[in-house]
Amino acid sequence: MTERIDGHTYLISLLAYPIRHSLSPTMHNEAFAKLNLPYAYMAFDVTNSELEDAVQGIRALGIRGSNISMPNKGKIIDYLDEVSEGARLIGAVNTVTNVDGKGHLVGYNTDGIGAMRALREEGVPVEGQTITIAGAGGAGTAVAIQGALDGIKNLHIFNQDDEHWENALLTGEKINKNTKCHATVERLEDQETFKRRIAESSVYIDATGVGMHPQENLSLINDPEVIREDLVVFDVVYAPAETKLLKFARENGAKKAFNGLGMMLYQGAAAFKLFCGEEMPVDYIKDLLF
Ligand code: NAD
Repeated sequence: MTERIDGHTYLISLLAYPIRHSLSPTMHNEAFAKLNLPYAYMAFDVTNSELEDAVQGIRALGIRGSNISMPNKGKIIDYLDEVSEGARLIGAVNTVTNVDGKGHLVGYNTDGIGAMRALREEGVPVEGQTITIAGAGGAGTAVAIQGALDGIKNLHIFNQDDEHWENALLTGEKINKNTKCHATVERLEDQETFKRRIAESSVYIDATGVGMHPQENLSLINDPEVIREDLVVFDVVYAPAETKLLKFARENGAKKAFNGLGMMLYQGAAAFKLFCGEEMPVDYIKDLLF
C-alpha cells in the first residue's frame, strides 16, 4: 500500500469508538488499490465528545470523505451542511462526503441502501411487496425506512417491549407520513399477530441481532408452520454465517434464507461510490474478505 501513497493521495476517514475491529479499512483500501485510485482509508477512535473537533479536522485537512459508526451516527448530523432524505428520515448518517474537498459536508446513510441491494442481488426486489421486519434499532430503522422509500407496499414492524419500542413507533409514523408505504407497528410479544403478519408477507427480515453472540442459541421463529416455500428470510447478522433462524428457515423449506454479508458489502460499495465516484469491485472484495 505504501507504494500507492504519495503527495496526491486523498484521505478517507472512519470516525467511531471502538473501531479497531472494523472490516471497513481493509475493504476500502483493497478496493482503492485494485482500481489504482489515489485514496487511503484510515480508522480513528472518536467518541461523541470529540466528534465536533474531528469534523472540523475533516474540513481543515480536506479529508475527502468519512464513514461514521457508533456512537456518532446520530450526533454527526448536527455538524453537517446537508443530509440526504434517507439519512434525515433514518436519523443517522454512516457516510459523509466533503464535496471537492472544500468543506461542504453532505451526510448519507448507506446501511438501508446496502440491504436493498442485497435483496435485489438475491432476486428479491422489494417494490410492491408486503414485508415483515423484526427490530427497530439502528439496523432495523435504516432497513425499514430505505425499504419504504424504495417502494415496499406494506411494512409490518415488530419490536419487543424495550428501549427501542418508542423508536419503532416513530419509524412507523415517519414512513406513513413521508413515503407511499403503509407501515404498522406491533409488539413482538403478540405472537399470534407476528405469525399472521409473516403469513401475509413475501419477505421476513430479522434486524434484531438475535442469533449472534450472546444470543446465538435463540431464534424469533421456532414454529415450522411460519416458514413457507414462498417466504424469503433475510437475517442482517453475518457472524455466525448461519444463525439459528437461517438454519431453521433452510431446513423447513423457505424459498431463500440468507445472511447480512451482502448488506455489509453493499453498504460499503455505496459509500465507496460516494467517496470516489467508482463502483467497488464487489466480487473481488467478497473473495478477499469473506
Ligand atoms: P440495536 O441495539 O440498535 O437494536 C437491536 C434491536 O434488536 C432492537 O430493536 C431490540 O429491541 C431488538 N432485540 C434485541 N434483542 C432481542 C431479543 N432477544 N428479542 C427480540 N428483539 C431483540 O442494534 P443494531 O445496531 O440495530 O444491530 C442489530 C444487528 O444488526 C446486530 O446483530 C448487528 O451486527 C447487525 N447489523 C448488520 C449490518 C450489516 O451490514 N449486515 C449492519 C448493521 C447492523
